[in-house]
Amino acid sequence: MEGHEANLSLIRELLTLKNPENDYYETRFIPGKGYGCFAIKPLKRGTRILADSPLLIVPIGHYLQSDIEAAFEKLSSAEKTLYFSLHSGHGQDPRNWPDKIHPEVAGRERQRIKEQHNARVAKEPSLISIFQTNCMELGKGAAVFPNAARFNHSCCPNACFNWNPAIHKETIHLMNDVGEGEEITISYCDMMHEKTLRAWELKHYGFSCDCPACNGDEDDANTFAHKSAERRYRIAELERDTRFFRGARLEEGAKRPEFIMRMLELAKLHKEEADYSVRLANIYLDLALVCEATGDYEHGRSCASNAVKVKRECQGSDFPDYEKYKEVLRRINIKYKAQLFTK
Ligand SMILES: [Zn+2]
Repeated sequence: MEGHEANLSLIRELLTLKNPENDYYETRFIPGKGYGCFAIKPLKRGTRILADSPLLIVPIGHYLQSDIEAAFEKLSSAEKTLYFSLHSGHGQDPRNWPDKIHPEVAGRERQRIKEQHNARVAKEPSLISIFQTNCMELGKGAAVFPNAARFNHSCCPNACFNWNPAIHKETIHLMNDVGEGEEITISYCDMMHEKTLRAWELKHYGFSCDCPACNGDEDDANTFAHKSAERRYRIAELERDTRFFRGARLEEGAKRPEFIMRMLELAKLHKEEADYSVRLANIYLDLALVCEATGDYEHGRSCASNAVKVKRECQGSDFPDYEKYKEVLRRINIKYKAQLFTK
């Protein structure tokens, strides 16, 4: 434990190089689980608890070890130490990771798969294994954010992360109220995927999830795991059924009552799953536009106002397309008032 305490104070010291101490959470060591972030006071949904600058950026999608090495070489020695203090998903059982590559996969792609495989089953952490475990998407490439990387995973997370190009930072916002001492978690995979797919996605990080959606008995109708699995299944079904009319064909969708009912059900299910992410904001935005197209400005302004609120709470009012949401609300409000005036 003493070793962990010493390690923790070093990590805190290194982290303050990149980001000053914050008022919202602290990093703690949990035996058997590693490091995690815990609220130091009660916090409200929508709070931006972190805006983190990248430590190491790899500006291409299909990176090789040499790309990470090139970025790593540019770091100061304290930043290098900070990088190697991050969690690494190496040391995985090679039996879980077949090392055969299809003979037609050649050149750079073959090398990339080989390097990733070797890093995963290696006995020691490496530049790649740390990158694999901690990187987050950033435009076309990926980056490691030293503070954001400390948050543990849950398929029922209470926070969400987004790359905000306007401020050039990775933000973490609370999607739900969090009590003092409660762990703040984000989802490393698409939380709406079903359990087996989530388990496969999480295997890449070298752990299996024990959150309430993964750990409970899905066959027992009284458990949260069962209810959550049903909701996620229904969400996937509704997404398939509504996809065609979302976007350019939204006005066509507005003429179909079943489309509107499905969108309303989608919003309800995301809320029940506590998924107050941009996905929910976009469902509300589409509902607002549907109401506008049918002349129902009263419901339209309420949906648009929900869209703006969720968007602001999960990504912030400095997010590049936030104004687009506000503009829809403004426009429908004007139409609503004009309609009242003519009645
Ligand atoms: Zn889980």
